[in-house]
Amino acid sequence: MAHAAPPGASPVVYRVELARAGATSVAVSLVLPAETEAPAALVIPRAVPMGYSQLEYDRYVSDVAAFGAGGEPLAVAREEGPRWRLGAAGSSVRRVGYRVDLARMERAIFDASGSSRARPRYVGLLGYSVFGYVDGWQARPARLEIEAPGDWPVLTTLAPTAPPALGRAAGDAADFYALADSQVAMGPGLSVLRVDGRVPLYLSAYSEGQADPAFTGGLVARAMDALVSYFGSAPFPHYTAVLELLRPVTPDHEYGFSMEHLDSSHYFFAADEAVGPASPASEQARELFNFAHHIAHAWIPKRAYGEGYFPFSWELAPLLDTIWLSEGFARYVAIDALADTMPESEGRAYRKAKLEGLRTTLAEIPAFIREMPLVPLSRIASTRYSEDFRTGMTLFARGALFAAELDERIRAGSGGPKRFRDAARYLVAWSAAHQRGFRVDELPGLFREATGVETQDVWERWLSH
Ligand SMILES: [Zn+2]
Repeated sequence: MAHAAPPGASPVVYRVELARAGATSVAVSLVLPAETEAPAALVIPRAVPMGYSQLEYDRYVSDVAAFGAGGEPLAVAREEGPRWRLGAAGSSVRRVGYRVDLARMERAIFDASGSSRARPRYVGLLGYSVFGYVDGWQARPARLEIEAPGDWPVLTTLAPTAPPALGRAAGDAADFYALADSQVAMGPGLSVLRVDGRVPLYLSAYSEGQADPAFTGGLVARAMDALVSYFGSAPFPHYTAVLELLRPVTPDHEYGFSMEHLDSSHYFFAADEAVGPASPASEQARELFNFAHHIAHAWIPKRAYGEGYFPFSWELAPLLDTIWLSEGFARYVAIDALADTMPESEGRAYRKAKLEGLRTTLAEIPAFIREMPLVPLSRIASTRYSEDFRTGMTLFARGALFAAELDERIRAGSGGPKRFRDAARYLVAWSAAHQRGFRVDELPGLFREATGVETQDVWERWLSH
């Protein structure tokens, strides 16, 4: 990532505490590795990487307090936006504390994938919904320490273990982004499974209905193995799939969404939506694809991305030019990777059926959205991708069909040996080497370098309408 801290820099230490079983808020504190000159700013995210929307997590924060090097309390003032001013000129800030009301957050946010939650036997935290930063310290490593009731199992996706530790857990993140992108799950209702696969893989499950974690874990492992084979290696030391099967909080709450992260992905379903070994094959296949799609995001765009994804703008959702790539190319990668695991004719039929499904999706979208050029549509969807999912569906469907055409061109142009997969791998390596987002106009050249095949006209056609 472009905003790396000096090697060996001491971390900002974050502590999150659930005081007792049944509590519906958590206390968060952060200690800076050195004093910082006041006034400083505490910033709570209003935008989420790949959330493509604004979510005002500062609404659920209260009791903000700041302290100087000697522990003396400092003045704190609410500012415009998701900011608090800490301390007055002439003082310095060392520690900040605040509370987050999880129950209020969950009631207010109807999209289950946007909220943390507290239940009598379970608490699930999305990093970005509870962690803020002191402006200027985002690039520093972050150390996370979690304290829970002594008999509660605790899991952080930063350092998963099975079984999870009791009462406390800790983990390290490279920077605020990696901390905010992680999740915490805890409580006697939590079950954590270590799943056999090509990378250390964990399934964290909480269910208010029927669930079969072993079956689900098997699907996650199949999806993961397909993606690791596709990209040739795994860019993470471990990976966690977090599953929550929930009873709806109100009829307005929506379930069924998933969210991808650097080293994890999170699946939020209604309690009666569990897929198990007795479910129809079509439902099992849909679930497998959903896992593959979200795992594919760990590469695209989490580690190969267009401008605007990193460094991330936490206060205002960034306007992105490349959502069709992040969502569409990753969707095609999932299709292609799963097809690779099948016998050749079956794989060909699978790919064809999936692409046909995307064309059907597109046909049902009003023409004024369906026909909008991809880059302007991407900018519009940057803040309303799921709120008006017609924008999201158009971007992922056209993006995936675009990738499929690039794949055909590359296979034909190279006489067989090269394919879209080579370009996808190349983009990941290029991003690791360059530590920046690519621009749209750089992509045809990168595809040429990756495959030796000219695809410029395909790009021009897909991007011009
Ligand atoms: Zn996606």
